[in-house]
Amino acid sequence: MTFGRHRPISPVPVMQPTIQTITDVFDNRGNDSYGVEAVTQLQHALQSGLLAEEAGAGTGLVVASLLHDIGHIFEAESLPESCDENMDDRHEFRANCWLKEQFGPEVADPIRLHVLAKRYLCTADSGHEETLSPTSRKSYHDQGGTMDAEERAAFESEPFFREALELRKWDDLAKDTDKTTPSLEHFHPALEAYLKSV
Ligand code: FE
Repeated sequence: MTFGRHRPISPVPVMQPTIQTITDVFDNRGNDSYGVEAVTQLQHALQSGLLAEEAGAGTGLVVASLLHDIGHIFEAESLPESCDENMDDRHEFRANCWLKEQFGPEVADPIRLHVLAKRYLCTADSGHEETLSPTSRKSYHDQGGTMDAEERAAFESEPFFREALELRKWDDLAKDTDKTTPSLEHFHPALEAYLKSV
């Protein structure tokens, strides 16, 4: 009996470690509910990323939009599922050091600022609060409500405050139960591009 030459074993593709971590986080917790909203954490993330992409945002802001709430599911705690509880889990800070290390401030800072951005928008426009979902309105008050002049000035002094305001718009829209989104893999090139640029 003769054996032919061994065929080379094609290597199993290894995912870039940061993208693997993000994939694992969404595999583990992506089906968690987004508080009391009707969409899951993964749907909310994909819709946010897609809205940014559709608006022609730069790659960093697309990545920031996709990952803006990863702090909700990065660690073991869940977002409260009842509006009777305090909704401020300070999620915008939870994964921030890790995000900054992996992607730099263009991604990490709009994420860190996206809760302040809601407070800024509600302070600047008294009608803005009415446009928020009930959960977002409740968390707005738990997160501090209206900003005073000093807080507004501090927010405006942040280099990425405009990006945070953009991200916030998509965040508030990304709760559509009927919206079709691509999978997480669709965003791999954007994630890779941004990882490489740090
Ligand atoms: Fe969000």
